[in-house]
Amino acid sequence: RGRPVERWSAFTCLAAAATVKATRGLRAGRSRVACHGKPSGSDLGNGMKLAIYGKGGIGKSTTACNISIALARRGKKVLQIGCDPKHDSTFTLTGFLIPTIIDTLQEKDYHYEDVWPEDVIYEGYGGVHCVEAGGPPAGAGCGGYVVGETVKLLKELNAFHEYDVILFDVLGDVVCGGFAAPLNYADYCMIITDNGFDALFAANRIGASVRQKSRTHPLRLAGLIGNRTSKRDLIDKYVQSCPMPVLEVLPLIEDIRVSRVKGKTLFEMAEKDTKQGRAGKDPSLQYVCDYYLNIADQLLAMPEGVVPTEVPDRELFSLLSDF
Ligand code: ADP
Ligand code: MG
Repeated sequence: RGRPVERWSAFTCLAAAATVKATRGLRAGRSRVACHGKPSGSDLGNGMKLAIYGKGGIGKSTTACNISIALARRGKKVLQIGCDPKHDSTFTLTGFLIPTIIDTLQEKDYHYEDVWPEDVIYEGYGGVHCVEAGGPPAGAGCGGYVVGETVKLLKELNAFHEYDVILFDVLGDVVCGGFAAPLNYADYCMIITDNGFDALFAANRIGASVRQKSRTHPLRLAGLIGNRTSKRDLIDKYVQSCPMPVLEVLPLIEDIRVSRVKGKTLFEMAEKDTKQGRAGKDPSLQYVCDYYLNIADQLLAMPEGVVPTEVPDRELFSLLSDF
């Protein structure tokens, strides 16, 4: 039995880094999940890594879950990792709040070597695998540290190697070092925004993080996804100043709001309707699924993406305001 990892709740970011160092190698040499035959291109396997960022409440998790299923519908084995302390990223895939990595570690008294893949990886709708990092207690600890520990634990479980796509769903109001961690692994970042100042301001900050990370990592910004907006004038204004693709713009759709309440993705709602005896999928729901399938197809085509050059804050204020 290895030494239990010290409790994280007392950590500050700096203390966390020191303790991670002290406990590194705790499970070295242990590999309890069969590596599924692929040669290892990186610690996280050879699959495509995606990171979805955006302002809180903008629709990251909704979009992530539906993109995950869309990718699965295209034959890909997908792992979605919720990296938001809100820990509801995968709710519409599984229909419940799955135990987080942090919950599980607490339950195992921080003996990492006692954590098994089935403790933390849950299968959601469409065969999408789901993980929730969790978060520190409000006002204590470091959420970014939790993200780092999640990646570390999954690496040690060799869990990454079986996936074609690994999608990180990360909050992006503040992209501090910890919450930028998934960008270290990602091939592509996507940013969810509406047509308003706050979400575009957050998007600009996230773009700056992508630019920073791209200096040392092969990371590109695949583009923006407009969400919950029928207008896109400010989005268009922004991308004129900071050129980047707009992959899709989804309006406010009542069925998407309902899907969250029901704990189902749009794909499940569309397919359940079929099972309830209708001839074929409900066309009104299929058109919503098509938005996500379109995004999935663009990603699978390995777009060139961009390394954005963010707009300075003051310029952004005047760009997106009337004065
Ligand atoms: P985030 O992960 O960014 O915090 P969520 O994905 O949880 O945001 O979405 C917040 C709320 O917005 C949810 O209730 C969700 O159903 C709703 N929502 C997301 N996208 C849309 C949309 N295009 N139309 C209507 N409601 C949406
Ligand atoms: Mg979310």
